[in-house]
Amino acid sequence: QFRFLNEQLYTVHSSEAQQMFQDAPELFDMYHKGFAEQTARWPESPVMTYAAKITALAKKHASTSQNALVVADFGCGDAQLSAQLNATKGIKCVVHSFDLVAANDRVVACDIRRVPLPDKSVDVGVFCLSLMGTNWEDFLREAHRVLRDKAILLVTEVTSRIEEGGGRNKFASAVSSIGFDVISKDSSNKFFERFEYRKRGAKPNPNPTKFKLGVCKYKRR
Ligand code: SAH
Repeated sequence: QFRFLNEQLYTVHSSEAQQMFQDAPELFDMYHKGFAEQTARWPESPVMTYAAKITALAKKHASTSQNALVVADFGCGDAQLSAQLNATKGIKCVVHSFDLVAANDRVVACDIRRVPLPDKSVDVGVFCLSLMGTNWEDFLREAHRVLRDKAILLVTEVTSRIEEGGGRNKFASAVSSIGFDVISKDSSNKFFERFEYRKRGAKPNPNPTKFKLGVCKYKRR
């Protein structure tokens, strides 16, 4: 059932996924249980790596600004990133966590193609394994809207999905064509690829380079 639901989420428009979870919220718990079982086998937790990275960014930010570092976690799951950063001492950081269903009170329920944040209000945008749905480019355009000029965008996606679409360089350029400069690519983990970008330009490109992200098929246990 998890594998069916998972494939479903990668092959429908986000509005359809949202409707599906609204109609049957128990499917969300089932999805997350399956997801947790799959990722528990990975040698590294991509969320924890991002927590460490953002902690460093928050310290750097504090040296030039009085304000807290503002983070938006798009497709946050149960908002572990927010929990981890809130528990980290010595940093000033506000994390907005979005997912289709609010698994706890750190999460704001919404479709991430439209998040309840003002334009140019975010310092770091995060997509950790959350570019699901056929309209994933919409999510990145929305991130472009809420990010401040030259703000940072962190993207992690499953290697097989990226390879199916033509590889990491093509994927990185496709995302870049939406309106982000590539800062770095990291393939040190065999399960997922990591990318760091910097927002470029005032408006996202409505006709970016096409890239077809594959469907993430988790192995049968
Ligand atoms: N970032 C978390 C969860 C990854 S699972 C982590 O790394 O642990 C992918 C998450 O993206 C799921 O919780 C799924 O519900 C969410 N997601 C996918 N499409 C979405 C959409 N259109 N709007 C909001 N959340 C979405």
